[in-house]
Amino acid sequence: MGKPFTIGTAEAKAGSIQYGELQLFQHPTGHMEFLPVVIVQGAEDGPCLWLTAAIHGNEHSGPLVLHRLIDEALVAQLEGTIVAIPALSPAGLRTEKRVPYHDTKDPNRLWPDGKPEKAPDAERTPASVLERAYARLFEQITETADYLIDFHNAWPHSIPFAFLDRVLFRLGPKEAERRKEAEQLSNTMIEMLEAFGHTIIREYPVKHYFDSELHRSTSAAVLLLARKPAFTVELGTQLMPMPSILEAAVAGTRNVLRWAGMLPGSMEKIEGIQVVDPGFPVHRSRALRAVEPCIADVHVQSGDIIHAGDALADLRDIWGRPLEKPVLVAEHDGIVLSPAEGILFNAGETIIYTAIKDETPLVCPYPEDYFKPEEGKQN
Ligand SMILES: [Zn+2]
Repeated sequence: MGKPFTIGTAEAKAGSIQYGELQLFQHPTGHMEFLPVVIVQGAEDGPCLWLTAAIHGNEHSGPLVLHRLIDEALVAQLEGTIVAIPALSPAGLRTEKRVPYHDTKDPNRLWPDGKPEKAPDAERTPASVLERAYARLFEQITETADYLIDFHNAWPHSIPFAFLDRVLFRLGPKEAERRKEAEQLSNTMIEMLEAFGHTIIREYPVKHYFDSELHRSTSAAVLLLARKPAFTVELGTQLMPMPSILEAAVAGTRNVLRWAGMLPGSMEKIEGIQVVDPGFPVHRSRALRAVEPCIADVHVQSGDIIHAGDALADLRDIWGRPLEKPVLVAEHDGIVLSPAEGILFNAGETIIYTAIKDETPLVCPYPEDYFKPEEGKQN
């Protein structure tokens, strides 16, 4: 028998799929914002995998992966529990916007980071209703989850891939113990991502990770604060889900369930998508930018392996004349995740999204000045 628990009005029941709502907050118009909740529990006990989607409302593949995955055939074989949230930002999804109209901040940068709540101060804007709602939801994830996968979309025509975040540990007392725990967690992350079977892209090294507030994403909060294996998946084009990418993501998720001992049978082959392995680890990069306004004629495609020195695009003015620096050249070995949309670029804009050779460790300390010694949870 599975463990009994509830998320909102959905109550886990062994051998069944349960549907419910988790109230997030009330709008000034009196309407309640709620999250749709699905709890799938097998007859046999086992781990609990959370699957979340559409925290960015313009990324539409995730809900379909959950819809395709969850059916009676899955329940019949499942050992353990899946908690699925097909829309983490319902208002964003309704309006197809990355940031919902009732907030000002990217919702995937609102999750807890282990810092204590600041004392109330009427002159300072408090945490938004969404941030507070996610903090409550995070408590429930921490209590029930063993693993989490959060589904996103990257860019038009990008290859699908999964992010491997670095596992951070806190400096100070018990540092050696903490480092050891982080190393074990990181090794489990690698196993879980290998089971998913997609191209693995490491997240930014620590400085840019914090600069981009990626430590406050859904999966990062679960990994870094709840200390449970969790990753983010990017499934290509945002508003045009590709059937082959959806199928591969469903198969990859079933493979994660098999790896976790939650489904029987051997691993499925991931087919219909490009899985790119350049032979060395890579981390995401946006550094291939226009240095002056230009029209870019890109010669590489998503999934291509590139080498330092390769000419990747011709850069011209609108008349078609080569710019003073007429070619965009790769500075590192790596892979093309996706050329950016369009042909027009202002100075400073990224022309090609890549992942480049990663030469920094997967387990790192938090930046020294991140926590005050007395602050936050001890991880
Ligand atoms: Zn996203």
